Amino acid sequence: MTAVATLFDADEYLDLPVCKDCGIDTVNAREWFMLRDDVWAQAAESDALLCIGCFEARLGRRLAPGDFTDVPLNQCRGSVRMRSRLLGLDEATAG
Ligand SMILES: [Zn+2]
Repeated sequence: MTAVATLFDADEYLDLPVCKDCGIDTVNAREWFMLRDDVWAQAAESDALLCIGCFEARLGRRLAPGDFTDVPLNQCRGSVRMRSRLLGLDEATAG
């Protein structure tokens, strides 16, 4: 066993960052984001990983700029869908 393997739980770190509901790779889809805890708690378990579309399906509405936290992660270049929610624009405008 290597030193790294003893430091980390291998199962946890080898899991792909897939959406719990639809199974897309959220890194490839460029949908890494952070929402306010109270918004997240309305639709997901604290340790769940979801894409924008599946989170909105659970929440029952479209995400809005005020749902996101003010962290650098949310300023990264996300998918068109994610940017449209961050900016409060429709997807055609955000693309
Ligand atoms: Zn999904």
